[in-house]
Amino acid sequence: MRDRSKRLSLLIAMSMVAASASAWAVESLQFPGAASAAKAAAAASPAADHKPGTHETVEAGAQSSAPASPSAKSPAKPPVAKAKDTIPAKKLFGALKSPAPMKARAIGAYSRGCLAGATALPIDGPAWQAMRLSRNRNWGHPKLIALLEKYAGEVKQKDSWPGLLVGDISQPRGGPMLTGHASHQLGLDADIWFTPMPSRRLSKAERENLAATSMLASDNLSVNPKVWGQGQVNIVRRAASYPQVERVLVHPAIKKALCEAAGTNRAWLAKVRPYWGHFYHFHVRIGCPADSPTCTKQAPIPGDDGCGKELDDWFKLLTAPPKPRPRPVEPVKPVKPKPPLTLADLPPECSAVVADDAGIEPTAPAPSKEPTAKAVKPAKAVSVPQNKKSADAK
Ligand SMILES: [Zn+2]
Repeated sequence: MRDRSKRLSLLIAMSMVAASASAWAVESLQFPGAASAAKAAAAASPAADHKPGTHETVEAGAQSSAPASPSAKSPAKPPVAKAKDTIPAKKLFGALKSPAPMKARAIGAYSRGCLAGATALPIDGPAWQAMRLSRNRNWGHPKLIALLEKYAGEVKQKDSWPGLLVGDISQPRGGPMLTGHASHQLGLDADIWFTPMPSRRLSKAERENLAATSMLASDNLSVNPKVWGQGQVNIVRRAASYPQVERVLVHPAIKKALCEAAGTNRAWLAKVRPYWGHFYHFHVRIGCPADSPTCTKQAPIPGDDGCGKELDDWFKLLTAPPKPRPRPVEPVKPVKPKPPLTLADLPPECSAVVADDAGIEPTAPAPSKEPTAKAVKPAKAVSVPQNKKSADAK
């Protein structure tokens, strides 16, 4: 137990170092391993972030935080407990490069939890390639990883889809991330690109720089027939067909296209939920696995296909003129942004997941012997309104 506390102290120290990009080189002389943690934090910084991810900021906006425990103010508190209440959990989890060597378990809620015993999706498979390897987010609950491998095989065999480009799943221990996503914390969420997988193996550089293709037309209210087709319908439908998948998030315009393409077999549409963003990729979420008793189940989805009033309401939002800002009568107090989640805001089991053996020393993201490819210019982002919250992304 003392060892665990020491490790947590070390990790917290490393994370504090990682928080200061300008100071990391100096600080790393004082903390063994801190340089690697700082490098990891820098690699995941917003500057290193890229599309797709319009929805990710929305999901981040849905993140909520409990006020810091009053014990944080107590001078008698041991340093670990004090730090744990003040350090953003994303810095702790973002610095860890390997999974917690524990029994596989998703702990807490999709936007407030962590993951023990994660496995990695291999960066290459017979019918998939993992993207954005520098993020080290190809980790998930073994049940999700197994499903993704099966899913990739089936879209190739049964849907004539060339293969899946897999975006973010989770960090090695899940938890909040330094950039993007409020959810993806339990290893039960995966982003799948709408772009078909190229027939060749992509280089490491291409996996960083290749721009995903937006499926939206220039009106942002419909799909672009030049890039959207039956193939995309098939892969979303197949994802929704698995019993363990509870939700598939797509942009409302994509949901509309799916409603129109579905024909008489419509049961799968209920799981396909409209949400902001999600026009470069769709988001596949499985339910709490049986081995995870402290995983918080989501509210069940409405039973209908969601092609009626719900979709109409989304289109009203998408087409609503921007509200004029009311002129303030008195000076308005600036709204303080919500503080980020700390370890104290997560389930207590997550402290053990962060502190457990291994993972302090970062590992190389993924082996690749491919030559460096010319960077592809990212596609222009399509802006969509960002103010609707939904239980779907939580
Ligand atoms: Zn996602």
